[in-house]
Amino acid sequence: MAAKKALEKAIKKRGKKLIISSVYRSITSQYLRYKYFKQGQCGLPLTSIPRKSTHQTGLAIDIEDYKGWQPYLESEGWKWFGAFDSDHFDFFRSGVSDISKLPIKSFQQLWNLNNPEDKLLENGVFDSKTEKRLNQALADGFPKGEKCSIECGFIFQ
Ligand SMILES: [Zn+2]
Repeated sequence: MAAKKALEKAIKKRGKKLIISSVYRSITSQYLRYKYFKQGQCGLPLTSIPRKSTHQTGLAIDIEDYKGWQPYLESEGWKWFGAFDSDHFDFFRSGVSDISKLPIKSFQQLWNLNNPEDKLLENGVFDSKTEKRLNQALADGFPKGEKCSIECGFIFQ
């Protein structure tokens, strides 16, 4: 919430539309992005390895016109990453929540629900075992059916 408010203040100060090209990425999103980057697919620029990207915290943005926005964003707590990744800014302030563990824990729980014979620790840590299972997970998701609807409490169509 603090990051959002700081972003709103910067936009109000400048009085201009801020164009954001990337914000939050879940572990699966970052994992695929990194995999595609390494394979030279999709024309992706330099991409951090999963668990290292600050986009997974929900406190990072990539924007257009970084030079024009830099003084406005930095005055509100958004720090420019530097020339190495020039359109990237991170938000730093004590007491701000980092949500990067939530989607990892969600994947671990979903994996365990669908693979009770091969359980992962449900701790939100992207360890080598979790990475291996993420690589094995089907892009279309886990099978749907009566068993899942009962255990998950959802009814899938
Ligand atoms: Zn970025």
